[in-house]
Amino acid sequence: MDLKKLEVWFVTGSQHLYGEETLKQVAEHSQTIAKALNEAKQIPVTVVFKPTVKSSEEIYQTCQEANTKPNCIGIIAWMHTFSPAKMWIGGLRILQKPLLHLHTQFNRDIPWSSIDMDFMNLNQSAHGDREFGFMVSRMRLNRKVVTGHWQDPNVLERINAWTRAAAGWHDWQGAKFARFGDNMRYVAVTEGDKVEAELKFGYSVNTYGIGDLVDVVKSVSDAEVDTLVKEYGEKYNLAENLKKGSAQHNSLRDAARIELGLRHFLEAGSFKGFTDTFEDLHGMVQLPGIAAQRLMGSGYGFAGEGDWKTSALVRAMKVMGSGLPGGNSFMEDYTYHFEPNNNLVLGSHMLEICESIADGTANCEIHPLGIGGKADPVRLVFNSAAGPAINASIVDMGNRFRMLVNEVVAVKPKESLPKLPVARVLWKPYPDMATGCSAWIYAGGAHHTGYSQNLTSEHMRDFADMAGIEFALIGKNTDIHQFRNELRWNEAYYQLNK
Ligand code: MN
Repeated sequence: MDLKKLEVWFVTGSQHLYGEETLKQVAEHSQTIAKALNEAKQIPVTVVFKPTVKSSEEIYQTCQEANTKPNCIGIIAWMHTFSPAKMWIGGLRILQKPLLHLHTQFNRDIPWSSIDMDFMNLNQSAHGDREFGFMVSRMRLNRKVVTGHWQDPNVLERINAWTRAAAGWHDWQGAKFARFGDNMRYVAVTEGDKVEAELKFGYSVNTYGIGDLVDVVKSVSDAEVDTLVKEYGEKYNLAENLKKGSAQHNSLRDAARIELGLRHFLEAGSFKGFTDTFEDLHGMVQLPGIAAQRLMGSGYGFAGEGDWKTSALVRAMKVMGSGLPGGNSFMEDYTYHFEPNNNLVLGSHMLEICESIADGTANCEIHPLGIGGKADPVRLVFNSAAGPAINASIVDMGNRFRMLVNEVVAVKPKESLPKLPVARVLWKPYPDMATGCSAWIYAGGAHHTGYSQNLTSEHMRDFADMAGIEFALIGKNTDIHQFRNELRWNEAYYQLNK
């Protein structure tokens, strides 16, 4: 995904009071900043300069244009001078795109020896931005406030995170997700209100009978299968028993056929992700393993057992992380290691971990699967790189959606795990195992997550604000007492804020 195709508009607020000369300087400075942001390596989207807005009408018109411009994903607003904020009511009331308030100043330093009232008149964002901030807060609108000089790398990083969140949010609008079969029977957290999700998140989720997919899988040509099997052989360390002429080579061909069928189905319906469930595979030869892993690798959202919320989240995370080193995957907290002073979580799934988080070349293997009653599925087996990561989950609390994020640090496995036939990650949750896992459970976080090597809690916080949903963070500074109180306070807040 090329994020440069997406636009963020740089909008400077002012008023007519200052006269032509000052407004000319305001426009020049704004252009300089917009150009610098556009050219900054840290900012992945196109930043477009917009003419200074000086009246209610101009503000309204700019917001209206931003709403209807398909590739405009958000607005960065800055008040170089003073822009009386009642002028912003009309525009902000209709603005449907994410908002970042850049609280900056054109001059980095005060020109001590030459500063006069002309300089003060021009460089008054210190109070002009406060007037704007009041109105956004008065209107109870979510936005991100970034403070600092516009050339400061830290400021650029904060803007970077927001633009990535906005790209993920933009991608969700009108997105379609396919469920093959329904939910894993009796499972709670993967359920949820799909109508409310479409209202809140902008994406739709619909179910397709597994038979419809089976028909597409059957229609895949042998020539296509030949080509994909060749690609498997070139890209992965293929197990001996899967190679041509070996006993289970036909299973590899079946797996390739499933991948191609899924790909055709998703392309034909313009889907951005999917779910399946091992309890609804009638007519399928194998549970999709390598297919799900590679489709995630191509940017599709995925989650198992009908978990559409996690599938959509994985997709959004892939868009947000576009172009960054590291990957994003569907994940499940699987097994614990409770060694004193070295507590670890082993994350995995029964098959479907995205190849984008593989450390080195993956092995392509085939092993039996204890559940589902189908033929042995082919899968990619690999370790994942060490380093900082996050786990993110969206749950339906009945009266609202909650996004929960746990900052973790992945570690290299000390042992080789030779008998584990699935891709895996080992991590330590912050602030520590006991607090991190207890907090996750108090918050009702799912066992399924989106696992990311290249996003931080900042991206997810910005994203949750754009969606207008609750955000709960378990990080380095989480105190379990405070966290439990925060959940209680949020409970009251979301009852009152209806
Ligand atoms: Mn699962």
